[in-house]
Amino acid sequence: MSAAEACGIEASRTRKSEFPLVEMGAAVSTVLEQATKVAEQRSRKLRIELASGSALKGQVLADDVTSIVSHPPFRASIFDGYAVPCVDDSSTLLRVRSSISAGDKPVAHALSEGEAVWITTGAPVPPATHCVVKVEDTEHAADTTMEGAFIRLKGPLPPAGDGIREPGSDITQGTTVLTAGTVLTAADMGVALAAGHSSLPVRPRVTVGVMSTGSELQDAAQCDAHATGQAAGLQPGKIYDSNRAVLLQLVRDAGCLPVDLGIVADSAADTTAALRRALASCDVVLTSGGVSMGDKDFVKLAAKELTTVHFGRLFMKPGKPTVFGVASSAAGSSDAHSSLLFALPGNPVSTWVTFHLLVLPALKVLSGAAASSSAVPPVMSVTSLSALRLDRERPEYHRVMLHTVAPPAATAASTASDDVAALTHGVWWGGNADLAAGGGGGSVAPGLTLQAGDVVAVSTGMQRSSRLLSTRGAAGLLVLPPARGGQSRVEIGQRVPCIVLQPPTALAADAQAALFATVSSALSSGVAQETVCGCGAVHGEGGAAKKQGGGHPSHAEHTSVKESPSTAHRRPPVQYALAVITVSDRASAGVYEDKSGPAAVRSLGAVQSLQAAKVSTTVVSDEPAELLAAVQRVEAEHADNAANKGLPLLVVTSGGTGFTQRDRTPETLSALIDKPAPGLVHLLMSDGLRHTPLAVLARPVAGVTHQGNLLVTLPGKPKAVVEGVQALAGVLPHALKLLVS
Ligand code: AMP
Ligand code: MG
Repeated sequence: MSAAEACGIEASRTRKSEFPLVEMGAAVSTVLEQATKVAEQRSRKLRIELASGSALKGQVLADDVTSIVSHPPFRASIFDGYAVPCVDDSSTLLRVRSSISAGDKPVAHALSEGEAVWITTGAPVPPATHCVVKVEDTEHAADTTMEGAFIRLKGPLPPAGDGIREPGSDITQGTTVLTAGTVLTAADMGVALAAGHSSLPVRPRVTVGVMSTGSELQDAAQCDAHATGQAAGLQPGKIYDSNRAVLLQLVRDAGCLPVDLGIVADSAADTTAALRRALASCDVVLTSGGVSMGDKDFVKLAAKELTTVHFGRLFMKPGKPTVFGVASSAAGSSDAHSSLLFALPGNPVSTWVTFHLLVLPALKVLSGAAASSSAVPPVMSVTSLSALRLDRERPEYHRVMLHTVAPPAATAASTASDDVAALTHGVWWGGNADLAAGGGGGSVAPGLTLQAGDVVAVSTGMQRSSRLLSTRGAAGLLVLPPARGGQSRVEIGQRVPCIVLQPPTALAADAQAALFATVSSALSSGVAQETVCGCGAVHGEGGAAKKQGGGHPSHAEHTSVKESPSTAHRRPPVQYALAVITVSDRASAGVYEDKSGPAAVRSLGAVQSLQAAKVSTTVVSDEPAELLAAVQRVEAEHADNAANKGLPLLVVTSGGTGFTQRDRTPETLSALIDKPAPGLVHLLMSDGLRHTPLAVLARPVAGVTHQGNLLVTLPGKPKAVVEGVQALAGVLPHALKLLVS
């Protein structure tokens, strides 16, 4: 190409989109309005189908369903036991005349006086049965010489009808059990069968064509990737087409009928032809890619040619170039039929987000599963556990995991995880379930208070629109406004509106405790200068997260604004050796299990800016000589090992800091300290006072020992150990680095 030609091309390049930026509220309304119109067209021509068995799952019911039978159809026994007549005295002997099992035909002859019938659960009770008594509430009468088998009731005769389900008491014949528009679930299918229906009238599924566009795309199905476990057959310059697979599955999950329209290369003619065919045969067409400003982006042009474009750009992120159009055939005639076109951006995350925000509500309306007023996903206020930077220009939908805070949240950060597990377990089995609202709340970290039942949001990490990993586990989209005036960030603990895509899940007790420990560490180490992310890491403002498998983003990458190169480097965690010494007469004698030492190891392990290369734990009695020897031993072992050169040692003790006669840890260890660190003591004291006024009685010591190691004494209770570690988490990495510098 000559320089003049190149110059001509550059001069003629489109530099401004012809489509105005449309706000999301307006875009959603437009989509719902158009989807409602098309749904009305569809329902005028609806061919109701009958479906049965597993084909019913996810289908939309076309008509109300009325029960054609009563359930149960006969008087049925609730228990395995005895059908008994009315008796005056429960000690009366009852002869066991016969037995009736579930599935037997109802018997015609009535129970007579002095007789009982053995009956199983679900079996038809004989006429004149007063009640069915559980087998456990009867006894075999062995004391009679009469011929035959006899029983007696152990307690008083139950009231009439006890142990019997009357006909129609579960479902009465003639009642409406399911209403038109229901998206059928497994439970609905059961109800229909119980009501006597083996097949149901359903609406035909909405057909949704899914097409990928882009010459760089390769169909994974045509490669032998599975056989080798590698990207076998992926040509240079190509990538696998992931959008189509994702969209096809999302469409299926929405109860619609996906139609795979394959990949179309970046060619104007091919794109238009493929789109024309798709719009003629599908109710909805989803394309991805080819809607940006590139000279190979032909989908927008094709959309303009084949549909009425309602919007061609969105004022949001990710998904700005999204196009929505409606194609009508035989407009004005009674046979009018329209198809919706969503031309989604190619970046996989943009595709995923715009599907959930725009396409899914439209599919619900079209399929009759929801009215337009209830088709959009719900929004709730959640507490962000991640610090996030706002985009400078556009509202952003930030992918987050959503978790419901489990009951012991108040103390989760500072309670031994065993206790947390026990409480959570209690709620499961109902033993101590608190049915009243609430269930306690409290400080998860200084400055962050959560109640049981609160929903917290944790970022899924770097939000770049190509990073599909950010959609994994995402149950919600935080609705972040663009940065305005003084507000440029969301801080940890801030309430943020969130579009809920999946119900929040409860974390396992130890996962919740670890999450709160991470949040606490983020808050204490750089108050709101850190991002807690779904990987459990804390990312420094300059991007200091420990690299996780597969490469983990720095904080800079989590946010919308790029960091300058000088701050975009990763800061690795500080490596150190950890020696934890539990000081307790009873733990060392085996009277109880040492929980403080493990709590110290665990909570230090949760500090992301630290990484213990070595960990040792020791339990000693309160005897000063024993304690002294233990500390000196770990110091000597550390110094003697050449491999530890340059590795700072942190010695943490737990216990013996109280007021009793045996509490002598501070006195014993003060002798080892060369450089006292009153600042660390102050930090422990002031943080302790936040948890309990009794912290004023604590007697911590901290400092650098004569051997050049950092020594900190913590109280004996596991909870206090965790709190102490969390209080120090922000300064420990730096303090340890100074030891070896
Ligand atoms: P486009 O919207 O066509 O400009 O594409 C934007 C980005 O998304 C490019 O990096 C494409 O390679 C990528 N992309 C487009 N379509 C797909 C697809 N179906 N699967 C995976 N990535 C895609
Ligand atoms: Mg493209």
